[in-house]
Amino acid sequence: MGDDTWDLKKMQVNYGGGNLCGESVPGITKIKYKEFVNEIKEVAITSQLTTHAVLGVVTTKRIATLRVTRAYRTVSAEAALFLAGTPQGDLLALERKRVKSKLDDPDRAYSKDEIRGAERDILLAARSNRWSRGVRGAWTRTILPDLIRWTKRCPKDLTFHVTQALTGHGCFRYYLHRMKRAPDAACLYCQHPEDTAEHTIFDCVHWDPLRLPVKMFVGNRNITPGDVQDLLCGPSDVPSSENDRL
Ligand SMILES: [Zn+2]
Repeated sequence: MGDDTWDLKKMQVNYGGGNLCGESVPGITKIKYKEFVNEIKEVAITSQLTTHAVLGVVTTKRIATLRVTRAYRTVSAEAALFLAGTPQGDLLALERKRVKSKLDDPDRAYSKDEIRGAERDILLAARSNRWSRGVRGAWTRTILPDLIRWTKRCPKDLTFHVTQALTGHGCFRYYLHRMKRAPDAACLYCQHPEDTAEHTIFDCVHWDPLRLPVKMFVGNRNITPGDVQDLLCGPSDVPSSENDRL
């Protein structure tokens, strides 16, 4: 790390405002702040850039990620980066470092494109491995367990409402109660004690009419969290690349 005297604790992070069904959301949480500081440290160590340079890259990337996915700022970095298809800073820094060292090798046997392509695959495998072993973003991981399928074939436009469903952070009473924006977590429509994203999307009888077209689409059966990846990315037995599908 280039700048030892720089105090990370003095950083003030602002991901930009947002609101929660008309109410302002709480500021950055201690956990998110810790994640942010850890990412800065990891990227600085792996890339050997100065902390200021890393701060610029990571801050811009994280803000862009939250904006691209239209996610609430309470969404974990893991889930936001996953949905945006953005690699973690430390993995990206390592990939850039490997590419540079291979391109600088005077005896290299492969072209630039071949080296970059191979390193992209290694990066994707590393991201996939980290996603499957992750802890935060549990709901997103439950419905979208396969990072490689998501990265290659995710929907082009993640709307504000789709992102709420995919993260569980939005107008669900369970979440609002956690954020101290609702007196309890119960569903307003059926009084189920926990109005989570799962309850609203898959179970609540109030939303049955809206669920009907999807139910018919999957063969006249109830949809489950296990259907989400297939519905959004297509069936797993269809090749990702268009050339392979021809
Ligand atoms: Zn309900």
